[in-house]
Amino acid sequence: MAGPARQCRHEVLQVDISRYAKEAGRSPPSDEQRQAAATTKRSSRPNNQSEGKGASTISPYTFPAPLMLPDDLLALNDDEPPQSMLSWLRARNPVTQTRKTIYVVRTPSVDARVSFIKTWTVPTTATSSKLKTLEPPRLADVSAYLEAFYYPLLVKTLPQDVSFVSWETTEQAKPQKGRKKPASMPAYVGLKIGDGVTRIRSRPCPDGVFGGQLNLNDLLDGALHVLPADAYAILLLVDHDLYEDDEDDFCCGRAYGGSRVCIVSSSRYHPALDTLDYYIDGGIDLAHMWPASHCQSFVEGVCSLHEPRPPTKKRKRTQKKPKPKVSADDVPAGLDVSSTPMGAALRAVQPLSDSAQELHGLWFSRVARTVSHELGHCFCLGHCAYYACVMQGTTSVAEDLRQPPYLCPVCLAKVAHALMGITPNTGDTEQAYAVQRYQALMEFCQGWLHVGMFAGFHAWLQKRVQMLSAGASASSPICLD
Ligand SMILES: [Zn+2]
Ligand SMILES: [Zn+2]
Ligand SMILES: [Zn+2]
Repeated sequence: MAGPARQCRHEVLQVDISRYAKEAGRSPPSDEQRQAAATTKRSSRPNNQSEGKGASTISPYTFPAPLMLPDDLLALNDDEPPQSMLSWLRARNPVTQTRKTIYVVRTPSVDARVSFIKTWTVPTTATSSKLKTLEPPRLADVSAYLEAFYYPLLVKTLPQDVSFVSWETTEQAKPQKGRKKPASMPAYVGLKIGDGVTRIRSRPCPDGVFGGQLNLNDLLDGALHVLPADAYAILLLVDHDLYEDDEDDFCCGRAYGGSRVCIVSSSRYHPALDTLDYYIDGGIDLAHMWPASHCQSFVEGVCSLHEPRPPTKKRKRTQKKPKPKVSADDVPAGLDVSSTPMGAALRAVQPLSDSAQELHGLWFSRVARTVSHELGHCFCLGHCAYYACVMQGTTSVAEDLRQPPYLCPVCLAKVAHALMGITPNTGDTEQAYAVQRYQALMEFCQGWLHVGMFAGFHAWLQKRVQMLSAGASASSPICLD
């Protein structure tokens, strides 16, 4: 595993891009570029004039820079310009009074004639009965999270029954007696939603982690056919492993943003996969998932694996303090890092236990973040490079797990623009909307404080709301038009 994973106390907060990225000549957008990106005006000047001279800057202790670790998407490729508010305005599908519901499709049940694909949802690497029978993320929990994340939109379950059925109508599709699996894997299964059936390609799983995979484009087509008239977007959540084309090994999620349909698979987030050798190359470190991914010791550890010389700086660690204070490099005078949103999030992290309840929560937290990301594409949000942000693109599951669940100020400005005022009493300013949305998310996280990501997110939200309520305009999450 990458970095000093065990017993790390996460004492120093990394709010800047990694040393690796700096040495590779990478840099995040400047404050001016970030503020220009969050405004609806053509001028590059920030539109928050109340702070007097100069630009009001966003605190990195609330919204740190993307980490840009080796092999992260932004470290590999920064050629694509990030999407500004203005370019989003040109691309978006407006939410309207007649189209303001997010639909989620039930996880498909499995018809007896294709019962062999039931086994495809259990990783071949799950050796203990606890892992084999671990409850996957529940649709109701995913819906509740989305309802807070995309406040104030309603999230409804599509009423139709959904199941995987046989695509073949010939005798060969009938299960042979005593066998769960046909002699050879059929090339197709059917996705039945209501009365319609869509043909879904299947194939063996290239890395053997699951018994088989389903084609995500075919599944998205199936969901697209049942998009209700009042739907803003539709989400299909599946437990099966997915692939997009012949080239890829697997794919966790995809959105057809313009068509407002997206799909997420929970399969690769299964905790039984966390210790696979091939994932370790990708750097999964269970002690350093967000918010602990912003632990400087971890970031330095990962960077040092990608260069011949060791890190130049070593931090002393104090012992036996249950709640260490969090510090950071170049802290402004008088700032207590522990009391900032990111400092508080880092302090909220507890060591992971392997109880079934915690593993289920861990699995769900990963899916919740990816679902909010893919639905973000349905709101026409592009991949983000402005800050660490849930809308960052990723190249691996390990990178997914290092990313925050929150929207950065630029992406939040877009969502606020889309959603404020869509129902009465959602605030008549972006800031008022943001506070209501944060409170809805805080309420959700309250029920999941035994899970690291939600505990960290709750602490972050609490500090954020305190700052906004105290009128901390110097670090306002959004530019006020
Ligand atoms: Zn750490
Ligand atoms: Zn994406
Ligand atoms: Zn963003």
